Amino acid sequence: MQKGKVSVNTENIFPIIKKFLYTDHEIFLRELISNAVDASNKLRVLAAKGEKTGQTEDMKITVKLDEKKKTLTISDQGIGMTAEEIDKYINQIAFSGAEEFVEKFKDDKDSANIIGHFGLGFYSSFMVADKVEIVSKSYKEDTESAHWVCEGTTDFKIKKGKRKKRGTDIVLHINEENADFLQTFKVSELLKKYCKFLPIEIEFDGNVVNNTNPLWKKNPSDLKDEDYIAFYKELYPFAEEPLFWIHLNVDYPFNLTGVLYFPKIKKDIDPNRNKIQLYSNQVFVTDNVEDIVPEYLMLLHGVIDSPDIPLNVSRSALQADGNVKKITGHISKKVADKLNELYKKDAKDFEAKWSSINLFVKYGMISDEKFYDRTKKICLMKDVDGKHTILDDYIEEIKANQTDKDGNTIALYASNPDEQYTYIQKAQDRRYNVLLMDELIDNHFVSNIEQKLEKVMLKRVDADTIDKLIDKDEKAESVLSDDEVTKLKEGFESNIADDTFNFQTISLSPDEDFLTITRSEWERRMSEMGNMGGVAMFGEMPEKYTVSINTNHALAKKALDSKDDDQKALMANALDLAKLAQNLLKGKALSDFIKRQQSALVD
Ligand code: ADP
Repeated sequence: MQKGKVSVNTENIFPIIKKFLYTDHEIFLRELISNAVDASNKLRVLAAKGEKTGQTEDMKITVKLDEKKKTLTISDQGIGMTAEEIDKYINQIAFSGAEEFVEKFKDDKDSANIIGHFGLGFYSSFMVADKVEIVSKSYKEDTESAHWVCEGTTDFKIKKGKRKKRGTDIVLHINEENADFLQTFKVSELLKKYCKFLPIEIEFDGNVVNNTNPLWKKNPSDLKDEDYIAFYKELYPFAEEPLFWIHLNVDYPFNLTGVLYFPKIKKDIDPNRNKIQLYSNQVFVTDNVEDIVPEYLMLLHGVIDSPDIPLNVSRSALQADGNVKKITGHISKKVADKLNELYKKDAKDFEAKWSSINLFVKYGMISDEKFYDRTKKICLMKDVDGKHTILDDYIEEIKANQTDKDGNTIALYASNPDEQYTYIQKAQDRRYNVLLMDELIDNHFVSNIEQKLEKVMLKRVDADTIDKLIDKDEKAESVLSDDEVTKLKEGFESNIADDTFNFQTISLSPDEDFLTITRSEWERRMSEMGNMGGVAMFGEMPEKYTVSINTNHALAKKALDSKDDDQKALMANALDLAKLAQNLLKGKALSDFIKRQQSALVD
C-alpha cells in the first residue's frame, strides 16, 4: 500500500470546498457524470483509432444509491485509470486545479454563479461527501485495478482494487448535512436537470434517464415539423405550441448547435416563463443565460449548445468575450433571417402571427441596431382598423396627407381605441390614418423609430387639437372679436378653479367640438417614462391638460351671453363633456355629472 500527502501546502482546501462554495452543491453530480461521459467518449476515440479497448458499443453509466451504507455511486465503462494515473490525474493535476479554483473564487461574490456554470471537477464531490472512493480498472491490458480513498483531508490512500472489468466507480459517502442526495427523487430530479441529453446512456433505479441523441444534434433535413414540436414539449411540457423555430448549426469560427423556438409572446411577460437552456456538449449548464444572450433574445425558448462559451469567468468578462459576441451576433442574424423568410413566404400568415411576435421584434429593434436594420423591412405597423403595413411603406403612404408645414411627416397613433374614440374619429374625418400602439413596449418603440427615421414624428391622437395635430397652418377666422375671445377664456379660468387645466382659444369649424382636452405628446411621454421608473430625475410629474375652446362653436356665444351661476354651470357642464371624451371624468365628478343630467331631464 502506498501512502502520501497531496503535493500542496494548503491544508484547508476541503473545508473551503464545503463551506464557502455551498450554494451549488448539487453540481457535483453533473461534474462526476461528465467525467464518466468523457471517459466513455475517450474510449470510443481510442477504439476508432484501432486500439485494443474491448467492447465500446452499449456503454452506459450507472448511478446507484445505497441508503444503508449512505453511498451514492457513479459507475462508467470508460477508459479507467491505473494507480499511477489516479496519482497523476487526481492527486496532482486535479487537486492543484481545484486548489487554484478555490483560491481564485473563495472571496468572489460572483463565485456562486461561476461554480454553478463551471465545476470544480472531481473535487466538487467533497461538497457533499466526507469520504470518496475511486475504484478503477484501465482499459489497458495487464493492468491492475486500483482503489483510492480520501476522507476529506490532504491524506489519501491507494491500494489494489477489486474491480474486474474496465471502467470506474466513484463512491461518495454522503455526509449528514447533504442527506438529501440519498433520496431517490432528489437524485432523479438532478439527473433530469443536468443529464437529460447526455450522449451516453445513464441508468438510475432501473431506468434510462436521458435521450442520447437530442433533436438539436440531428440533421435538419431529417426532421419534420412534428419532431420539432415534440422536442419542444419535451423541454416545456406545459407550454403552448411554438409559432416557429430555427435550427442552429455552426462549426466555424465557433461551435454552436441548438434550436430556438418562438413562443406566442403574451403582453405581460411572465418572470417565471420558460427559458432558453444552455448546454455545453449536451451537459446542461444553466437556464440563466442573461450574460450570454441579449435580453430580447431571452424571450425565445429552446436550447443553445456550445463548448465555446467560457463558463469559468465572471459576468463582465463573459459579456466582453469575443466568442460570446460572435455567437450572439450569429443568433440574432439567424433570427432576423428567419423572420424575413417567413414574411416572404406568406405575408398573410406573418401578419396573423404579428401580434404574438411584435413585442419581440420591437424589443430587438430598440436594443440592437443591426437587428433593426435586418428587420425593418418586416416590421409591421398595424392601424386601428386592423390593416398591416411595413414601416417604410407606411411612412410613404401617409406622407401626402400627413405632412405638416415644417415638412415633418406625422404618424398618429392610439394606445386605447375605446378611450380615445372621439379623437380617432376626428383624425379619420380628415382621412388621417391612426396606428394602434397598445403594447407596453410601444412607448419606447415610438421614440426609437422617431430617432431613426428622418423628419418623422409620432403623436398620439389626443396630443393636440385636430388642427394642430398635423399643423398645416390653415387658419380659420374667429367669429368672435378679440375682446370676446379674451373674455371667454377668462370666464373659464375664473369659473373653473382647477389648475390641472390650462385654457386656450382656437377657431375651428363650428361643427368641431366646443371644448377639446389634450395633453402634449412630450409631456405625456415623460410622465409615462417616469411612471415606468425610467426617468427618475423628473420625479412625479403633475398631470397637466390643455383645454382648447372652439370660439366658433354655438356654445361660445351662449357662454359669453350667460351670467353668474348660469355661466358657471354651462362651462362646468361643457368641461365635463370634454372630460368624458378623454376618459377623465371619474368618481364623484362622474356621479355628480350623472345626477345633474338626470335632473335636467326632469325639468
Ligand atoms: P477535468 O475533468 O476538468 O479534467 P476533474 O477534476 O473532473 O477535471 O478530473 C481530473 C482528471 O481525472 C480527468 O481529466 C481524468 O483524466 C480523470 N478522471 C476523472 N474521472 C474519471 C473517470 N470516471 N474515468 C477516467 N478518468 C477520470
